[in-house]
Amino acid sequence: MTAVLNARDLTRHYLVYRGLFKGYATVQALNGVSFELEAGKTLAVVGESGCGKSTLARALTLIEEPTAGSLQIAGQEVAGADRQERKQLRRDVQMVFQNPYASLNPRQKIGDQLAEPLTINTSESRGERREKVQTMMQKVGLRPEHYQRYPHMFSGGQRQRIALARAMMLNPKVLVADEPTSALDVSIQAQVLNLFMDLQEAFNTAYVFISHNLAVVQHVADDVLVMYLGRPAEMGPNELIYARPLHPYTKALLSATPTIHPDPAKPKIKIAGELPNPLNPPSGCAFHKRCPYATERCSVEIPPLRPLDGRHVACHHAEQINA
Ligand code: SF4
Repeated sequence: MTAVLNARDLTRHYLVYRGLFKGYATVQALNGVSFELEAGKTLAVVGESGCGKSTLARALTLIEEPTAGSLQIAGQEVAGADRQERKQLRRDVQMVFQNPYASLNPRQKIGDQLAEPLTINTSESRGERREKVQTMMQKVGLRPEHYQRYPHMFSGGQRQRIALARAMMLNPKVLVADEPTSALDVSIQAQVLNLFMDLQEAFNTAYVFISHNLAVVQHVADDVLVMYLGRPAEMGPNELIYARPLHPYTKALLSATPTIHPDPAKPKIKIAGELPNPLNPPSGCAFHKRCPYATERCSVEIPPLRPLDGRHVACHHAEQINA
């Protein structure tokens, strides 16, 4: 099957002014991210805040240009696209944000907000738009009378349903969801995640699901990409990553995830210290100052992302650590 999203060595650097005496510095927010995503599949991108996952989301949704690398959406290279092609690509990739209230217009009725993508991008009549909006509202669990209501009249979970409905109105090929459930009550999170999955099945959309919490994405992801300080640490199929993580950072993230049946055979791994300053990243493996397995080599040599045991891992000592 052909990939609807194909990223090759996607890189995004920012030039940051640090004051009169320090001059400029480069923040390497995203470095060498590659993956392929097929229709109807979900890639979860996981890591602490500052790991580059939101930068990746902005690059995938064409909000920001990558500094280097290639991005293809449905076979179309983004970098060489003209104005018309970009307009189509923006239709093909939609985004759902963490805070649905901020992405909705508080002064516009929900029905009108849902119809807006159709008004801008299609020549459908008012009646056709209304019918499509009503159908989508039903699909996301909203009632017909909600059409005339304003965003403040809904709960957080309902607002996220509205945001998801709006993102799906143009039947996009790819949906990027940036922490879509982290602002919701735990009791509502599962319902909203189930809705995401139902819509994916109905529309065969490819999802990029961004989260700081590995537990949230466990039941929705086909593949998992774990990022650390702008670089991929480990990437592979969901069942392999959760059953037997190979990278020390993935192990630590997973062992910090609360579970109902903790396995006494798997000791808790604590990550020491904080995420380093991206303006001054550590040499070698960016994780070496926090890694319990770090050696001399780790502080000088950047570990390449390499195939190992059915996935890709960026660690010099993955074999020895997992022997
Ligand atoms: Fe730890 Fe070294 Fe592996 Fe980095 S390369 S994760 S510091 S063991």
